[in-house]
Amino acid sequence: MAFTFKGGIHPYDGKDLSKDKPIREFIPEGEMVYPLSQHIGAPATPVVAVGDRVLKGQKIAEASGFVSVPIYSSVSGTVKAIEKRRVTTGDLVESVIIENDGYYEEAPPLNVKPIEDMTKEDIRTLIREAGIVGMGGAGFPTHVKLSPKEPDKINYVIANCSECEPYLTSDYRRMMEVPERLVMGLKIILLLFDHAKGILAVEDNKPDCIKKLKELCVDEPRISVKVLKTKYPQGSERQLIYAVTKRAINSSMLPADAGCIVNNVDTICAVFAAVIEGHPLMYRIVTVTGDAINEPQNFFVPVGSNYAQLIDAAGGFKTQPEKIVSGGPMMGFALFDLNVPVTKTSSALLCMTKDEVAKWKPTACIKCGKCLEVCPSRLMPSKLADFAEHHDEEQFMKYNGMECVECGSCSYICPAKRQLVQSIKATRRTILANRKKKS
Ligand code: SF4
Ligand code: SF4
Repeated sequence: MAFTFKGGIHPYDGKDLSKDKPIREFIPEGEMVYPLSQHIGAPATPVVAVGDRVLKGQKIAEASGFVSVPIYSSVSGTVKAIEKRRVTTGDLVESVIIENDGYYEEAPPLNVKPIEDMTKEDIRTLIREAGIVGMGGAGFPTHVKLSPKEPDKINYVIANCSECEPYLTSDYRRMMEVPERLVMGLKIILLLFDHAKGILAVEDNKPDCIKKLKELCVDEPRISVKVLKTKYPQGSERQLIYAVTKRAINSSMLPADAGCIVNNVDTICAVFAAVIEGHPLMYRIVTVTGDAINEPQNFFVPVGSNYAQLIDAAGGFKTQPEKIVSGGPMMGFALFDLNVPVTKTSSALLCMTKDEVAKWKPTACIKCGKCLEVCPSRLMPSKLADFAEHHDEEQFMKYNGMECVECGSCSYICPAKRQLVQSIKATRRTILANRKKKS
């Protein structure tokens, strides 16, 4: 029986467009942009100056606290500027700009030794030094996630292989092409937790990945493959933990409080590359897809590359897109300017000929109760959106609005096309910002 959670939706998944396209290396040209804030926590501090020549794999910005990570150049070239540049969220973020010389001359790798000679601290230090963050979108520094207060109480290290967001196929390609790097990465993380078992959690729409991973883990006593029902948002951390372990967490808890650590596929592969090969995080897989793209596919992309160049590499637009999204259709950001960089957390570039959200005008709630049925957090989205629209933060909190995981299932299902998640998200941001101000 496949594992799952209550609620959720089954949107059109669009994965056929790119799932059978092997990962292709993308070679950028010209200017590379490295925002200093590509992670949750303190922005990194530049350690290069305008005019410096840098090598591929050279550190260009240092972590500026425990909850922070360094940033590395993914090309060789010259530092052209350190200035604010637009990123996918629309914000202007201080960035290091490097003119790519096209030679890809490499800096020495990170200092690694054989894994059997490494202590737990050596492994955590390397993961931090490599600049690894949660590449599923959150950008939380991985060394922090892997340093819970009580490591002996971690029972499960879960590899989030569900890739439930529609259209995204980068994790699928990783699992098909280099599953051994994923399994090795998980084994490295398990070295940090003596009492934990490793779980590769895969949705049942990927039977070929399940087969490959099961074969690879046949002689791995600490690792098993768990098959999840295909449903959105199966890959959301809380829903995944519940599906796999039946342990529930809320917004005031960390997965570690329930004895779990969750990492996504790209992040675990980055751990392998850092600890075994000494490679800092400089690349990620990006799915470039949608019905407006000529040749949807998955690229191995140097961080800092330009989104517009990625579209050219995918054969350009077949038809003028009505909507371009950085990420998937459920959780991504609509893009209004393609002149933005790929960062450590960029997962996809989705170009659609129809904007399914904007074409409908919201109407009044018809009290059908569908949003309640699908909400994976068991909330009342319609009421929460009412409170949000009336700026009634007290009632919003009373009805557990802070437990929303912002999955968008309620907006997707609503026949009145109410902008439920948008209103709820905005109120959550306001409450969090006010809490930050007070603390
Ligand atoms: S209220 Fe939040 S958690 Fe519930 S369906 Fe809507 S977006 Fe998802
Ligand atoms: S799904 Fe939409 S119309 Fe139905 S109860 Fe929820 S908000 Fe109202």
